[in-house]
Amino acid sequence: MTDYHEMWQSLDMDLAKHDLLCEVLPTVFGDVYLTQGNRPQAMDYYNFVVAEIHGVRPAELVEHQKKGGKIFGTFCVYVPDEIVFAADGIATGLCGGSQFWVPGGEKVLPTSTCPLIKASVGARLDRTCPFFRIADIYVGETTCDGKKKAWEILAEDVPVHVMDIPQMKRAKDIAAWAEEIKDFLAKVEEVTGNKVTPEKLAEAIKLINAKRQALARLYDLRKKENIPISGKDALVVSQIAFYDDPTRFTKMTNQLCDELDERVKNNVSVFPAGTKRIMLTGTPLAIPNWKLHHIVETSGAAVVVEEMCTGTRYFENTVDESKTTLDEQIQALAERYMKINCACFTPNEGRIDDILRLAKEYKVDGIIDVNLKFCNLYDVEGYKVEKALQEAGIPVLGIETDYTDQDAEQLRTRVGAFIEMLDNK
Ligand code: SF4
Ligand code: SF4
Repeated sequence: MTDYHEMWQSLDMDLAKHDLLCEVLPTVFGDVYLTQGNRPQAMDYYNFVVAEIHGVRPAELVEHQKKGGKIFGTFCVYVPDEIVFAADGIATGLCGGSQFWVPGGEKVLPTSTCPLIKASVGARLDRTCPFFRIADIYVGETTCDGKKKAWEILAEDVPVHVMDIPQMKRAKDIAAWAEEIKDFLAKVEEVTGNKVTPEKLAEAIKLINAKRQALARLYDLRKKENIPISGKDALVVSQIAFYDDPTRFTKMTNQLCDELDERVKNNVSVFPAGTKRIMLTGTPLAIPNWKLHHIVETSGAAVVVEEMCTGTRYFENTVDESKTTLDEQIQALAERYMKINCACFTPNEGRIDDILRLAKEYKVDGIIDVNLKFCNLYDVEGYKVEKALQEAGIPVLGIETDYTDQDAEQLRTRVGAFIEMLDNK
């Protein structure tokens, strides 16, 4: 691996502490990923991206800044990256998925805050993630209470722009979201010093749509009876989508899909025939949170789809590319983004419809409803999700977990019993 210490130092990172993270990550990735058999060859690219996670892409972002470009750090799939790319900025996901960053967040947040928020705040305040150091501005949103308050704390350290997400999906809410996107566009123009023209926005809409389509293609391949890629591998591809260069990511993911097409033609599966097919639904699994996929796939089942923001919520539905004025394009963006069904909306029947539809499309045998500890939104919504699944006769296991390994054995026992029950059905 190239030595990036000079870059990290220039970003005023806590090098000693960061070195500890650099030491553990390759071991974890090796144990979880490189132990898998029959991986697609095209996964080499994503292995490389993870191996150089705090090096290659951060170096590209720093290069962009040296040329006068700006970096926007985002935390939620409702934030329209298209606007940023249309102004020649770069949007990069910043959600923290490691326990390593949680204690740093707990210094300023109540322990009873979800680990995703604690890790994200900790990564910034502890100065142990280059992405969090590089971003010129963070883009927050009003999706949940914990995040809303976290922005106020982060704003003491870094510029933050907060987008006000509606809580309902009536016509007036979609109109309000379009207004919010307009304000965001003005902010992006101010920060970058560049004008967003309809031509530039049309290009950016195509760029991000192409990324979504590549991911949709990958997920379609997971619907096959012979599953050509493990859930773990598909998950890391979804996680990398949040911060990789979109053009390169689309190209590499389409290449991966070409290889998987061949596997499908040749009836190649990475799992033995009859392996039970599991859908995960719930809170996002930010990189490097691979815990549950690893438990499921080393307990004799396969994860074939994630109804999560690191999954279908990220790529389903594209933005209408036929619009030619800024107002029309912004309306098209508002409409596409409002089709995402996060538990922060009420009512949120659309999410239950999505889960039932995906269960059919991916022919799942059972569903694990995963909730990050202290996420009230998804925890409360779990009641309706699990009730709907029981009514539809789809076996469901509700799980609450965090980023630690403390509950790994207990989870393994529960997941194992669930899969055994599916095997005996
Ligand atoms: S779960 Fe909701 S708040 Fe979190 S990233 Fe997804 S859409 Fe945003
Ligand atoms: S998982 Fe829940 S509590 Fe955590 S950031 Fe997302 S919506 Fe908020």
